[in-house]
Amino acid sequence: MSSKNIENMSFTTRSIHLGDDDKKVGSPVEPAITMANSFILPYDPSSMNWSASDENIYTRNGGVNQGMLEKKLANLEGGEDCVVLASGVAALSALFFAMLKKGDHVIFSKVTYIATYRIFHELWTEKWGLETSIVDTTDIEEIKKAIRPNTKLIHFETPGNPTCCICDIEAIVKLAHENNILVSADNTFSSPYNTRPCEWGVDFTVESLTKYINGHGDSMGGAIIGRKEDMDKIRYQSQVNIGGIISPFNAWLIMRGSMTFPLRMQVHNDNALAVAKWLERQPCVSFVAYPGLESFKGHEIAKRQMEHGFGGVLSFGLKGEHDLYNRVVTHLEVFTSAVSLGNAESLIVFLGEDDERMYLYPQEFHGGFYRVAIGIEDKNDLINDLRQAFKAEGLETVD
Ligand SMILES: *Cc1c(COP(=O)(O)O)cnc(C)c1O
Repeated sequence: MSSKNIENMSFTTRSIHLGDDDKKVGSPVEPAITMANSFILPYDPSSMNWSASDENIYTRNGGVNQGMLEKKLANLEGGEDCVVLASGVAALSALFFAMLKKGDHVIFSKVTYIATYRIFHELWTEKWGLETSIVDTTDIEEIKKAIRPNTKLIHFETPGNPTCCICDIEAIVKLAHENNILVSADNTFSSPYNTRPCEWGVDFTVESLTKYINGHGDSMGGAIIGRKEDMDKIRYQSQVNIGGIISPFNAWLIMRGSMTFPLRMQVHNDNALAVAKWLERQPCVSFVAYPGLESFKGHEIAKRQMEHGFGGVLSFGLKGEHDLYNRVVTHLEVFTSAVSLGNAESLIVFLGEDDERMYLYPQEFHGGFYRVAIGIEDKNDLINDLRQAFKAEGLETVD
């Protein structure tokens, strides 16, 4: 069976069929797990390039299960090629390691995943002489002001973790490319079902596969999607020589999870919007940050660049003091107190007012807030669970 036509079919069909296209009579319908760490060499191996990634040599250079996943994700993200690694953070570091060097300047969003903040704000600046600027990348004028002659990369997330702030991908790409600057977008919160930054012109899309694409909270992985020549550079420099390789088993799990990814993602989108709208009406709630709400600052841009919905993550605050947040969580029966997102089950995490990056977030977040990863349970059960937990603490709710 050939996958030539599948490549042009709908997102849902591609999510199910792509990657595993070596189907012959008698072969398994679903991919096998190839756990081998090395592969049989040709008759004369003496002239082999031991750092090559395009032949099966050694699993740190590339393997069967990771190769299938790369093929599927490159297509789903609308990019040329993809590298999958052990985690979202491994993907971010591999990208930055291959593309940046001492003396380069990076502009990065003030709302990012914590590891991105550490890399750009502390680790690489102190160890390797990288210059960086933390910028409100929702404001194109702020980005423009931060550009220096040695600016090499603009990196942002949209929606951003955890404030859900929205960056205008098209406007950032235009500004960056006019100034010969590369652009990387961490698309984890939106996922390729809703947004494909490569189609908006970014040079690199990064996904934590740990989240929506795997979707079952049981493995970690990360991907970088972009041009083939750049992906080859990342494979050669970062994958083979730094070695943050994904286990074939995890690649297989993520491949399996990715089959139902579009179906799940639509439910995450729908549930999160319903919960956000309900939360917004509650007298005890101080604010709700969700790009699907008309009241949200980036809503118009989000509507333009998010296709089927606004993702499954929202943040909100309560009118109350620090420990009220902890007490409410003890009453929840459906939501679990845990970090991460994109699981079938709903998760909630309280980020207190002393969080070290609070100064980077808007005023309404400063008293502390919840980040909620809405799952794919029945949305009424989610709303009822929040309502009964609020009521158990005597908080005022409405239908
Ligand atoms: C979780 C997350 C990451 C890191 O991914 P891991 O798979 O946990 O390493 C990066 N960016 C965003 C936006 C995330 O939510």
